Amino acid sequence: MSRFKKYALISLAFMIILYAVAVANPGTVLSRKACSSWSLVKDQAFLMTHPKLDGSLKLPANFTIQPGTAEQVPVLMYHYITPKAYNDQPDNNSIMNLEDFEAGIDYLYEQGYYTATMEELEQYVLGKATLPAKSVVITFDDGYQNNYTYAYPILKKYGFHAAIFLIGSRVQTETSVFDPAKKSFLSQEEIEASSDVFEYHSHTYDLHHKGFMKCGLNYASGFDTTSLESDIAKMKELGIDSPYFAYPYGEKSTPMVYYLQKNNYRMAMTVHQGFVKPGDSPMRLKRLTVTSATNMADLLQP
Ligand SMILES: [Zn+2]
Repeated sequence: MSRFKKYALISLAFMIILYAVAVANPGTVLSRKACSSWSLVKDQAFLMTHPKLDGSLKLPANFTIQPGTAEQVPVLMYHYITPKAYNDQPDNNSIMNLEDFEAGIDYLYEQGYYTATMEELEQYVLGKATLPAKSVVITFDDGYQNNYTYAYPILKKYGFHAAIFLIGSRVQTETSVFDPAKKSFLSQEEIEASSDVFEYHSHTYDLHHKGFMKCGLNYASGFDTTSLESDIAKMKELGIDSPYFAYPYGEKSTPMVYYLQKNNYRMAMTVHQGFVKPGDSPMRLKRLTVTSATNMADLLQP
């Protein structure tokens, strides 16, 4: 037996013992650690038993950042926008005061920022195109009606561009009368009416809720990849058939990435904080959370 084989067998035996102990004692630090290690093993097994997809995109040979172009790009993440008077959850990072949202967008305009599209971001990540030094990508998750009522006119005023990641099952067939006191979602009609500013992509059709238990933690249902492919099909039936995606709660797994890529998704957003650079893994892009407390100038400092 080779040394490698011996090492692999010992490791496997160790994993099995650790896992057995952990399963017998759930909820402990050891069990979580064992479970995470076990997940890594399972992910490796998954990759070994599924045909390889071309996810390891390399930058062109001799790639360098052109002087005067963006060395990294901030992808801003917003969710729910509401006037301060209606914000009854000021500590909720997903709810932003309209006044602060507008001030941030005003700042981007005054500073001469360029708002790039998803396609431009993709080309930039792959090293196939440059972006102006002052570039930003604006994204909204979930598809709230207030994105149309409040954000759309502000962005349109400046000729800005943004992307909205919709939860397909929440898209309304009838437009409801907007009520700032109520949580409501975009309608088909509003989606069409705002396509000069917003591009629309997937945040799953109906997997944006918790319900997948792993290592004692409750993850988004997207983790259950048995329903991911049918969910993708439903999103495409709805007319959201783009190669761009945002993970519900930012939670991703190796099988999720695999099934997304298998279904022609090429770029996906997490909620990990940071800038996007050429050569980043397109299925694991970082973003920057913007809240009412965010100072835009500070946030955009690399
Ligand atoms: Zn979301």
